[in-house]
Amino acid sequence: MEDSWRQQLDGGEVLLIDGATGTELQRRGVPMDDVAWSGAAVLSHPEIVRETHEDYIRAGARVIITNTFGSTRQMLGPAGYGDKVEVVHRNAVRLAIEARDNVGEPGVAVAGSISTEPPRFDRDAFLAPDKELAAYQEAAGLLAEGGVEVIALEMINETQHATRAMTAAKEAGLPIWLGVGCKKTDDGCIVSFDHPDLAFETLLDALVPLGPDVINIMHSEIAAVPEAIGMVRERWSGPVGVYPESGYFTAPHWNFVDVISPADFVKEALNWVSKGARLLGGCCGTSPEHIRALHAALPELNDAR
Ligand SMILES: [Zn+2]
Repeated sequence: MEDSWRQQLDGGEVLLIDGATGTELQRRGVPMDDVAWSGAAVLSHPEIVRETHEDYIRAGARVIITNTFGSTRQMLGPAGYGDKVEVVHRNAVRLAIEARDNVGEPGVAVAGSISTEPPRFDRDAFLAPDKELAAYQEAAGLLAEGGVEVIALEMINETQHATRAMTAAKEAGLPIWLGVGCKKTDDGCIVSFDHPDLAFETLLDALVPLGPDVINIMHSEIAAVPEAIGMVRERWSGPVGVYPESGYFTAPHWNFVDVISPADFVKEALNWVSKGARLLGGCCGTSPEHIRALHAALPELNDAR
């Protein structure tokens, strides 16, 4: 049977994904690790991880993303959890599936998150290329074995590490959601979220040929999103999603400062849908109330297509 998330997109309908996981765990009191951020939270706070997934499903999300953004060996190893990579991935997928079962929404899909972030978000701390590729292969394999329906590559904001992550995700044999981040510079250029010297269009030119199934503009500055959707659609005829951030990061903590209100979030989302976005959710700083507001506005969002 075809995946329900794919059916919904094929039918042209707006598909709701969840909001932030890592920053939502922080908001609910889970300590963030200096090295691996929320990467090991499924070991220390499994109930809060499962509750967070459940709250997103109750809010209306049809896809939830596992808490494995910071869980590759590249991040967990230096954090002192090198012997826990397997159990972290298995538990993260299990908690997401349990959340779906507990709420009683079997049609909800579970996407497995993989990022190419280095430990401490320190770009001098990447593993050697062969070990780095192996870390992504390990994560993708564990997520697939656990039962995710999608691999969600997240914060793929440059090309070198992206290619390795994409290779690993393809080997897992699941649909790939490519998450790219962008922001707007003071002079109005749209650039990679954390590589301001890299134009977003140049990034897309390198990433689109890698062959994802969905492109999500994620962890992006809301002000940059409308133009970014146009840039993606000029290069890509497949499904486009948006799940932006709101607030700002001071590693390893999110600052919930000037977080967009759910009502304003819906207003922005209506514009994104009119420009062609079909998957909607939130990244860092967003909460179940943002997803609940999108869900309540689904008739208007579908009318805006
Ligand atoms: Zn984020």
